[in-house]
Amino acid sequence: MSAIDNLPPLREVIATHGLSARKSLGQNFLLDLNLTAKIARQAGDLSGCDVLEIGPGPGGLTRGLLAEGARRVLAIEKDSRCIPALAEVAAAYDGRLQVIEGDALEVNPLEHLTPPIRIAANLPYNVGTELLVRWLTPQEWPPFWTSLTLMFQKEVAERIVAAPGSKAYGRLAILAQWRADARIVINLPPEAFSPPPKVSSAVVHLTALPEPRYPADAATLSRVVAAAFNQRRKMLRASLKGVAADIEDRLLAAGIQPTERAEQVSLEQFCALSREIKKS
Ligand code: SAM
Repeated sequence: MSAIDNLPPLREVIATHGLSARKSLGQNFLLDLNLTAKIARQAGDLSGCDVLEIGPGPGGLTRGLLAEGARRVLAIEKDSRCIPALAEVAAAYDGRLQVIEGDALEVNPLEHLTPPIRIAANLPYNVGTELLVRWLTPQEWPPFWTSLTLMFQKEVAERIVAAPGSKAYGRLAILAQWRADARIVINLPPEAFSPPPKVSSAVVHLTALPEPRYPADAATLSRVVAAAFNQRRKMLRASLKGVAADIEDRLLAAGIQPTERAEQVSLEQFCALSREIKKS
């Protein structure tokens, strides 16, 4: 029996179902159920919430979320080998777990979820950033989720919470901090996973703000910061040349010197610039 429920320990689940980790699917499993319950607690009060989990694998975090009281968990898993193991979790938790076999980049989970919705995941590294950017950049705000509790490589987590002027400051910081409060809540060494990845990891908790910190059009802001940080060493008048024909005027109208570099520009200034560009 395990630490948090009546199901077998994760090592046994992995052995029984032949879930040898596949690198191509970003599989680094969490085996300590005390740790997965701790991560689940960082997601907030789950009792009245549906939780969307991406990449449940053998079900460690899934069990943490269910044991911590999630109303329902909808889990999307690409690896068909994991589905029988997850069916055992669903049976043990009275049908509070629904599993969809598929690619999280293609499945629309919304038809299966009832608000309020939280998202929690030990994300496959190969799709993690793309999913985060999608969740942060819908045209309308607030989004379908109230919070995101996500495991990333530590370096990516630091980019999400980075302040202007720092080396890690860039597109992820701007998009995350524009519409959410973001903080690192747990740091994890490689040995917390099986197999251990090469780098350390961290869990980031993001809470959706009721409205963005500053007005801006999501698509324009995305385009502007992507271009600005794509060539972060260049002056903005050069890196943003392709974004607007009269970019120097737009920068000045937004209160930014055309000779500045992207990492010196605050979130508020990027939003002002996006408004100026959208106007033109
Ligand atoms: N949640 C488990 C845990 O914490 O031990 C597994 C985490 S492992 C880092 C990532 C999981 O995401 C794997 O189970 C992998 O098969 C799954 N996965 C990879 N790409 C996926 C995708 N595009 N859509 C859904 N699941 C995916």
